[in-house]
Amino acid sequence: MVFQATLLGISSSIPLKDRNHSCLAVKFDGEVILFDAGEGVQQQLMRSKVSNMEIDKIFISHFHADHFLGLPGLLATMSLHKREDPVVIYGPRGVEQRITKLLEIYEIQTVYPIKYQELSNGLVCDTKEYQVFARRVKHLLETYAFVFKEKDKVGKFLKAKAVALGIPEGPMYSQLQDGKTIEFKGKKIHPKDVMDLDSIKHGKSLGYVVDCFDKDYDTFLENVDVLFHEAMFMKKDIALARKNFHSVTDNVGKVAKNAKVKKLIIFNFSARYTDLNALLHEVQSTYPDAELGEELKTYKLKD
Ligand SMILES: [Zn+2]
Repeated sequence: MVFQATLLGISSSIPLKDRNHSCLAVKFDGEVILFDAGEGVQQQLMRSKVSNMEIDKIFISHFHADHFLGLPGLLATMSLHKREDPVVIYGPRGVEQRITKLLEIYEIQTVYPIKYQELSNGLVCDTKEYQVFARRVKHLLETYAFVFKEKDKVGKFLKAKAVALGIPEGPMYSQLQDGKTIEFKGKKIHPKDVMDLDSIKHGKSLGYVVDCFDKDYDTFLENVDVLFHEAMFMKKDIALARKNFHSVTDNVGKVAKNAKVKKLIIFNFSARYTDLNALLHEVQSTYPDAELGEELKTYKLKD
């Protein structure tokens, strides 16, 4: 089972010759989930060998151009490739009207269906295998941070124990396996009575945070395995960060530390900085193991 994330871009606002707009492609068990789709996303996908045909869901953090300039082109290419499966686009309020209008302007008619879902705080996507949570963060316009979480694998079901308790095979078995307590012959049966809880496999998770000048969101990111967090400004430029609602290096480290994330990758850098190591050093003052995000690098959460 593959669970990995490839950084397609690390640049905020404007792309540079060696830095593309921020974007993350998450590969999860044969499916690709994209977070943002800035300019250049198609070529970056090709370079990363992530097929655009595998993209099923696209999460747009907010509607500043650098986060979705590449979307119309990507949707058009999928159509030219005769894609049939639907694509779901998640975005802030008005996502459907906005993208529909954009496609009209570009005369793009897709041969596959596009579904839209507006974001709000909490669980925004729930599949058998994973969940995506969103949290609104402070920025110049409605913006969301995301946590993508693989579901826990419940422990091994000990059928002999269930049989010994007299529970008949059927729906009650599934309820117990889903972690629910059932009532059988006036007695409460808990999952721990019939499951080997030592064999629970906790799912891995990743966080994606761009364009954000906020506080108290560390609980949202608690214990994620890999956090991709913007580090747009250095400490000396805090006034700019405050004015434009972007993150400052040392604060990013603090958030990651408070959230006890296992790995912090910084990205979404302002084009004004040529020496990214200077930003990294500032982040490392509060989170020593932070790493600089590298374009086209793949971060493996699970092989
Ligand atoms: Zn923005």
